[in-house]
Amino acid sequence: MRGFGMHSVGDIGWIEKERPACGPWDAIVRPTIVAPCSSDTHVSHGGSGPKSELILGHEAVGIVDEVGAAVQEIKPGDLVAVPCVTPDWLAPGVQNNRTFSHDRGMFGSFKFVGIKDGTMAEFCHVNMADANLALIPDGVSPEAALMTVDMVSTGFHGVELAEIGYGETVVVIGIGPVGLMAIAGAALHGAGRIIAVGTRPHAAEVAKAYGATEIISYKEGPIDAQVIELTGGGADKTVMAGGNAETFAQAIRMTRPNGVISNINFFDVMDTFTIPALDWGLGMADKDIRGSFCPGGAVRIQRLLDLIKYGRLDAEKIISHRFHGFDKLPEAFELMDKKASDLIKPIVYMD
Ligand code: NDP
Ligand code: ZN
Repeated sequence: MRGFGMHSVGDIGWIEKERPACGPWDAIVRPTIVAPCSSDTHVSHGGSGPKSELILGHEAVGIVDEVGAAVQEIKPGDLVAVPCVTPDWLAPGVQNNRTFSHDRGMFGSFKFVGIKDGTMAEFCHVNMADANLALIPDGVSPEAALMTVDMVSTGFHGVELAEIGYGETVVVIGIGPVGLMAIAGAALHGAGRIIAVGTRPHAAEVAKAYGATEIISYKEGPIDAQVIELTGGGADKTVMAGGNAETFAQAIRMTRPNGVISNINFFDVMDTFTIPALDWGLGMADKDIRGSFCPGGAVRIQRLLDLIKYGRLDAEKIISHRFHGFDKLPEAFELMDKKASDLIKPIVYMD
């Protein structure tokens, strides 16, 4: 089968592989729409360590092509959302934890691109199909469903981690697709004021549509100073969905004592962080620093699909570019990598 991926760090292109084999609990899915993600571009540049001859992509909806003998719920022909995180639900790291992301070691549940080929291919393998594949309900478009598998799940997870309460002042750093979903999630969680950080003009408009009350630019001076001035002392909660190691220190400065800094951003393998001691109350300011990875699995994604089905969330607003044809994968990937000013999220119909 044909797939699109990385030959080595920085060298991307078409890759020929055998169609994956289906284990007894597993499924083989034929992706019908896929979306490149910032995390795929990080991986292609070596941001998660060196990888070779790896098909990229971890966001897909598709048609089930084959299921293993032990699979009971999912059937060939089903239209499914493929979560980007597909835990091995038998692993102790799942049974013993909150987010199910680290099933057999750190990021163990992030199998596409992490330990096996991804979704930008004619076929992809999904482990534990009954527990990991979500059927797309009537009333939810495949495009909206595609946004749940990573963007909604990750952005909303930033909000869950931050435990945003009614009327709180929240800063969301980043108005890429993940930050935009964090803004939408913060609004659904009852945030009062939502200050978003970013510059891309179309994304800024969408941020306001999802509930951002103000947009500030990191290109117009340090954001911590801007937030402290705007709020008279800092935000209750800060969700990081963009920025770099320096932004992390800014997030600590601009979050009030008893607040939470909730990180869903990928830093680079070479990054180290500075915690400004005074702003962290010499270590005693009760500022919680949390970082976690997108939760996956069928139940999680089904709940997010219900938010769309029952009109609480319009996830399609983050789709900025639509490509038709398998052969458009390189173009969509390059767009994601270069981040054009009108970009939010590209999708590719595999027709
Ligand atoms: P984007 O690159 O589309 O968005 C990043 C945002 O951060 C942009 O709005 C950008 O501003 C802003 N930004 C850039 N530099 C700074 C800075 N110095 N200070 C403040 N803001 C800055 O990314 P995505 O939305 O696609 O993804 C966000 C992050 O989430 C990525 O690191 C991605 O890898 C990660 N991710 C994590 C997942 C998880 O499970 N934890 C899953 C999926 C993604 P501008 O508007 O100017 O471009
Ligand atoms: Zn992703």
